[in-house]
Amino acid sequence: MRPHVMLEDEPIEVGAIFCIGKNYAEHAREMQGEVPEEPIVFLKPPRALSTDGQAWYPPHTGDLHHEVELVVLIGRGGRDIPESEALSHVAGYGVGIDFTARDLQWEAKRKGQPWTVSKGFDASAPVSRFVRPERIADPHALELRLWVNGQLRQAGTTAEMIYRIPYLIAYLSRIFTLERGDLLFTGTPAGVGPVHPGDELEAAVGDLARLRVRVVRQRP
Ligand code: MG
Repeated sequence: MRPHVMLEDEPIEVGAIFCIGKNYAEHAREMQGEVPEEPIVFLKPPRALSTDGQAWYPPHTGDLHHEVELVVLIGRGGRDIPESEALSHVAGYGVGIDFTARDLQWEAKRKGQPWTVSKGFDASAPVSRFVRPERIADPHALELRLWVNGQLRQAGTTAEMIYRIPYLIAYLSRIFTLERGDLLFTGTPAGVGPVHPGDELEAAVGDLARLRVRVVRQRP
């Protein structure tokens, strides 16, 4: 069976997992990078999805980092979607963690190589249950928070996004045909840092969605 997410009580098969890099200026700075002139887009395969509360600490890294992100679930596909109609293609919002093998990502950046191995490994994209947009007054006014073993490590607001959701959907749809069940990780605020096997993480977007994840050595 293909990986699924839950939109409230409705299971939805997941398609592509699009992710945006450096979409918060403070995070771009902590990564010693420039604010990008166009969105930085990368992909995770569907098997990166995790909905059972586990994230894998893979043996190919020694520096696994958390990145808490607002995740958009596409409900209606399309191509060349105008920015003004983009939000009508959204089925739901949730919270996710873009787990990153930071050591390998630095090396890939240095060598000009892709991020697939540092970003796309199994169970590197845990997500919460999704809530329908009707419950959210403004997706760009949501608090994003992440705790590791009860300690707050990341706190930001989606108001700080450089490229906002309508722009991202319009941008992506000019390059990729979007389909129902595609996910969009919209970037992380500042405060990323390392996790270790056995750590318990909790992520929240406003009071809408919560995600609890345990970091495990064993491949889930
Ligand atoms: Mg990220």
